[in-house]
Amino acid sequence: MSRACAALAGILVAGLASAAVPDKDTSRWWGHIKVLASNDFAGRLTGSPGYRKAAEYVAQVFQSEGLKPAGSQGYFQSVGFESQTIQLARSTVSLKKPGGAATDVSASVVISPSVLQRKDTHAPLVFAGYGIHLPEAGYDDFAGLDVRGAVVIYLTGGPDQLSGAQRAHAVAEALPRFLEQAGALGYLSLTAPKNREVPWERQKAAGAQTGMVLSEKSLRRYQGLVFAGAFDETKAELLFEGSGHRFSELVALADAHKPLPHFSTAPALDAHVEASVTPVASDNVVAELPGSDPSLKEEAVVLSAHLDHLGTGTPDHGDGIFHGAMDDASGVASLLEIARMMHAAKAKPHRSLIFLVVCGEEKGLLGSRYFAAHPTSHAGHIVADINTDMFLPLYPLKRVVGFGADESSLGQDVRAVGSEVGVALVPDPMPDHLVFVRSDQYNFVRKGTPAVMIAMSPAPGTPQEEQQKQWFMQRYHAQADDLAQPVDLAAADAYNRLLYRLTLRVADASSPPTWNENSFFARFAKQPLP
Ligand SMILES: [Zn+2]
Repeated sequence: MSRACAALAGILVAGLASAAVPDKDTSRWWGHIKVLASNDFAGRLTGSPGYRKAAEYVAQVFQSEGLKPAGSQGYFQSVGFESQTIQLARSTVSLKKPGGAATDVSASVVISPSVLQRKDTHAPLVFAGYGIHLPEAGYDDFAGLDVRGAVVIYLTGGPDQLSGAQRAHAVAEALPRFLEQAGALGYLSLTAPKNREVPWERQKAAGAQTGMVLSEKSLRRYQGLVFAGAFDETKAELLFEGSGHRFSELVALADAHKPLPHFSTAPALDAHVEASVTPVASDNVVAELPGSDPSLKEEAVVLSAHLDHLGTGTPDHGDGIFHGAMDDASGVASLLEIARMMHAAKAKPHRSLIFLVVCGEEKGLLGSRYFAAHPTSHAGHIVADINTDMFLPLYPLKRVVGFGADESSLGQDVRAVGSEVGVALVPDPMPDHLVFVRSDQYNFVRKGTPAVMIAMSPAPGTPQEEQQKQWFMQRYHAQADDLAQPVDLAAADAYNRLLYRLTLRVADASSPPTWNENSFFARFAKQPLP
């Protein structure tokens, strides 16, 4: 923890002491986090003994709160994975100029462990703007561009004319399908500096961890082997030397959400990737509160959160364990709290509630993808997903952002329950971060189910905004996301009550949530993705 943060913690503790709110010893929500983020669970890596222990803890709490088992084996649904480790010492990436020598850029590339990698790739590089192929929405970075046999470079972001949701979908869904159909050999992604969330060094370190894909091939984003990597944007001019373009110009265009040019770069890519792949199994935890209405109980509202985190690694601002207290023990603890609140209030929601705690989120939203493809309960009748991932109660709850709230009637539901308790629903302040496709709700969206994820949102220009920014820089996917960090427990309780109200409102409504007519995602209700 930095000095600035320690001072901030002091302010928070002082603030808490003056109000009648729970402390770290009395908060039930924090009590679950204290268990799940403790050393005993070793960072809850998907497929690890620590994860299994955490899954058993969650199942036990669900049982004691009177929820029915709703997995395929009791409370569990087993998910099969292939786990890939990149042998970094034996892998190299270099740039080769025509007739010139090769420049080793291995240190500037993260070879993605979460896509099954090609062994040897010698390919021309083509810069394809934002890498967005959405002709149906009137934007195609690949129009007239031949990428067969090439590795595509793209810069994260998107033009003004596309919504955040469309940009998000384009990168997560449309790009892999397009690249494979067009015969490209892979991609290198670049992050515009203002969109960087974690320091490059941390992203680089993450590349040394194992990645996973689902064993069920048809559920993978890439069906074949590709070269997949991210390039350090501070070294990006290397890619563009001799192309007549500079990276800095491209970034300026991207910052202004203008269309980007498309062109071949001067250097070609030479990559040799050594990787080992082994099978692994892990569990989703699924529990149910059956609905009380004779006809509506057939339908189910899913409450989801992910239990897995990053396991262990080299000590760095921490003790070698990625505790994942906020990411996402906090969301799981909220589900456990809502189960308790339902039990204590003897709540009888009209529709059934499915409490879904998934594995494989950090490996690419894989546990939820598997569940959405193979629901163990209420298949074909899941009407909504309300997801909770890192809602970050760092300061009092006044404003929330609802990822997906602009897409379906769930936005009105969030607005309605928020106004009952003095919490405003505000627009996503960072649409370029593509949060809507970056947590488990998106796998329900792909199947045509309206979904929303609610997180706290600081008012612009306030110290809270800086506090949130610092949290991302210092703790997001770092070992410092631990039990020593300051949190506003009253805000967490308020969030849980908001989620509770929202859940009951959606479960009790006379009709299920509907997509907004103008939503880009409404199409998946008619044509679900695989
Ligand atoms: Zn995470």
